[in-house]
Amino acid sequence: MAPEHTKKTYTLASGDKMPAIGLGTWQSPQNATATAVEAAIRAGYRYIDTAFAYGNESEVGAGVRASGVPREQLWITTKLDNPWHKRVAEGIDTSLKNLGMDYVDLYLMHWPSSTRPDDLKKHYDDWNFIDTWRELQKLVGTGKVRNIGVSNFGITNLEKLLNDPSCKIVPAVNQVELHPNNPSPKLVQYCKDKGIHLTGYSCLGSTNSPLYKDETLLSLAKAKGKTPQQCLLQWGIQNGWDVIPKSVTKERIEGNFDLDGWELTEEELKKLSSLPDRFKVCGDDWLPVKVFFGDDE
Ligand code: NDP
Repeated sequence: MAPEHTKKTYTLASGDKMPAIGLGTWQSPQNATATAVEAAIRAGYRYIDTAFAYGNESEVGAGVRASGVPREQLWITTKLDNPWHKRVAEGIDTSLKNLGMDYVDLYLMHWPSSTRPDDLKKHYDDWNFIDTWRELQKLVGTGKVRNIGVSNFGITNLEKLLNDPSCKIVPAVNQVELHPNNPSPKLVQYCKDKGIHLTGYSCLGSTNSPLYKDETLLSLAKAKGKTPQQCLLQWGIQNGWDVIPKSVTKERIEGNFDLDGWELTEEELKKLSSLPDRFKVCGDDWLPVKVFFGDDE
């Protein structure tokens, strides 16, 4: 039977089924977000990824409503911003108000950095991501979040979190940068072993992606009669994580969803997993604390 990747879901520890492909919205301008979200849902997407920090939760909510698809048929992920770590209850309420929704399917701690709101270059002395996770756990059962998870957690910080006695709920998801120039095989295996599902962000290599100059990817895509973007998305989905390509361009939004009826062979997957170049979109030098320790590769 022809594979239907766009209908594929991953079952989380809660039993909830998370779609394999969603629309990303980082850097989606406010005046283009609602139309992009509506176009995506009309094209068949059932999952939107946003964050308080993107400044477009309200526009995501407007796009969802304009699509006419009932809320319960959609998967919505949003994220707690770094300067809100001591205000988790207020953080989710603010995001829900922005979205115009009663609940989100997944609420993520955006970064393992409890940044002081009065000085974004400083970390709290008396609070860290373990305290934040303790507060996030209190949201489960309130009806406001169906699942909680983390983002930008490498093995070092996951170990710290999972080994802390206050950690009663294993994060359902870890959303991290995953593309063939940042494949993080050790982190992927670690999360698999711990039952943590992965979401791959910057799955196309982000804005001005260097992957589009990669000869191996370009010739593979040409031979398949597919776009390089479609091959990158298929690589993520077939490797077992969900992908959230961002676009505000209708044709690209539709093209990125054209993933059914074909797939990459084992050999093609391996080829893309073995690209020699390394490139990372999101580092930690803008944060008051180091979060990547080079042990995920
Ligand atoms: P992506 O890898 O999704 O790439 C987005 C870029 O690719 C945009 O410039 C877009 O342009 C362009 N593009 C999309 N489709 C095509 C196509 N078919 N052909 C050519 N160009 C295309 O980058 P992101 O960094 O945005 O990552 C995806 C999502 O992951 C984010 O939007 C966000 O939701 C999430 N994310 C989460 C992070 C975290 O810390 N948790 C960090 C980074 C991202 P255009 O829009 O102009 O069409």
